[in-house]
Amino acid sequence: MKGERIAGRSVEAERLYLCARDFTPADGPGACKVCGRDIVECEPGRPGEPSRRPLIDPAGEVLTRAPLWWLRRTVAALARHYDTGGEDSSRG
Ligand SMILES: [Zn+2]
Repeated sequence: MKGERIAGRSVEAERLYLCARDFTPADGPGACKVCGRDIVECEPGRPGEPSRRPLIDPAGEVLTRAPLWWLRRTVAALARHYDTGGEDSSRG
């Protein structure tokens, strides 16, 4: 079923700020209060969007428990880092 709604509220594209190591939430970008690592800015998307679901293969097997928006910001960034041999100097 699509079209999930939250009664009485228009849902804008919200942003979450989380530490990728210990999942400590933050109010905005900066350093994690617990470990000092850079806080990751995430856009989960609206309720019901595919990016809110975990990674599922064509056979319907759930591959990850984390939703796609989290994988994009953490695993995908890491994969890019290795793909470019660590030459990607842009951070943030
Ligand atoms: Zn942390």
